[in-house]
Amino acid sequence: AHLARIEAVDEKVHAFLHIDREGALAQAREVDAKRERGEKLGPLAGVPLALKDIFTTEGIPTTVGSKILEGWIPPYDATLVKRLKAADVVILGKTNMDEFAMGSSTENSAYGPTGNPWDLTRIPGGSGGGSSAALAAYMAPLAIGTDTGGSIRQPAAVTGTVGVKPTYGAVSRYGMVAFSSSLDQGGPCARTVLDAALLHEAIAGHDPMDSTSIDAPVPPVVEAARNGSVAGMRVGVVKQFRGEGYQAGVVQRFEESVELLKSLGAEIVELDCPSFDLGLSAYYLIAPSECSSNLARFDGLRYGLRVGDDGGNSAETVTSLTREAGFGDEVKRRIMLGTYALSSGYYDAYYGSAQKVRTLITRDFEKAFEQVDVIVSPTTPTTAFPIGERADNPMAMYLADLCTIPTNLAGNAAMSLPCGLAPEDNLPVGLQIIAPAMQDDRLYKVGAAVE
Ligand code: GLN
Repeated sequence: AHLARIEAVDEKVHAFLHIDREGALAQAREVDAKRERGEKLGPLAGVPLALKDIFTTEGIPTTVGSKILEGWIPPYDATLVKRLKAADVVILGKTNMDEFAMGSSTENSAYGPTGNPWDLTRIPGGSGGGSSAALAAYMAPLAIGTDTGGSIRQPAAVTGTVGVKPTYGAVSRYGMVAFSSSLDQGGPCARTVLDAALLHEAIAGHDPMDSTSIDAPVPPVVEAARNGSVAGMRVGVVKQFRGEGYQAGVVQRFEESVELLKSLGAEIVELDCPSFDLGLSAYYLIAPSECSSNLARFDGLRYGLRVGDDGGNSAETVTSLTREAGFGDEVKRRIMLGTYALSSGYYDAYYGSAQKVRTLITRDFEKAFEQVDVIVSPTTPTTAFPIGERADNPMAMYLADLCTIPTNLAGNAAMSLPCGLAPEDNLPVGLQIIAPAMQDDRLYKVGAAVE
């Protein structure tokens, strides 16, 4: 049924870069066969899923939305993919994304933009816009995203779906193509809080193949999602997550959510986190710095595209021709920014300062979580904007992640879930819930209560 739905609508939406029809049917038949043999089935047996094209899949192309990996077929599965298979999930295909997960609209994909199913002339968020659009258009009930600065939560917000960035280190990064290694985190996307929790439990857990993977039990997220409640909880509202640049309808729906939390028995606490104002600036030094280092491996010699290898050119020339042709504008911009920020004369002034801000943000969260159990905010300052509107204005694009970035810098957990439509444009608004690291279950407890 989901493959038929994809066939019917994906021509218009363009959520998928690769549809693995045969593989999905084979996986589904295998689940049936297991059931008939009376074998134990995985916790998500037979449930279809849309996978962001940033995870390596054995025998299936993985592009990361970039021309530089066009035609590359990975020889191995990412740990997350192995876990999905162990849970008996049926992987439908790979979803569109901003090239190397750099963007907030999926317009930076080398393979063309994805439409927002609510209004195809608008963006589905980014970088994981293919996954969020697949959910919103009922092409898949579950999807996987990755969140470096908001790429799970912002697409969820603008498509009226649920997305969770787990605590940093909760989901293995092995086989997840690196953008900014100290920020990148894979996580679950779904249409309900409970569905997201079921997927969360299937993909989280320690992995010796990822040195930053947390070796501790996965918080009881499914139990929390089944027992939603905020009675007696202290919920923080941060002064810095409001003000100029927020759309009126977004603020209205957010304030209604705060009233709902109060009526369900939560105590609302006003918080001041002054360093959050510097989050965006720090992120746009740290993320490009790590990207400039991570993307050095795409040299035209090892994988994917190779340009100018005609016998007469040096390896260096082949590398530079390949990178020139293979990377898009935003990726090049980030590599240049990062290389500059890390250069010897400027390291302390830029990268060093950004790391200090990162510490201040972590401390602001620590202080906040002495007073509250969770923090809530709008996920994004505005609803889905029209395709093309911010394409030539990187600064305007970067602002989409104003409320999501502090969480990545501190490494704690956050969820976005729908909280109604903005009255002025009838487009979905996202409510963000933030919890301390390793307390991911609180997101689900609160999310299930207000869903
Ligand atoms: N939009 C942010 C960026 O462009 C975040 C991307 C992400 O989370 N992968 O870097």
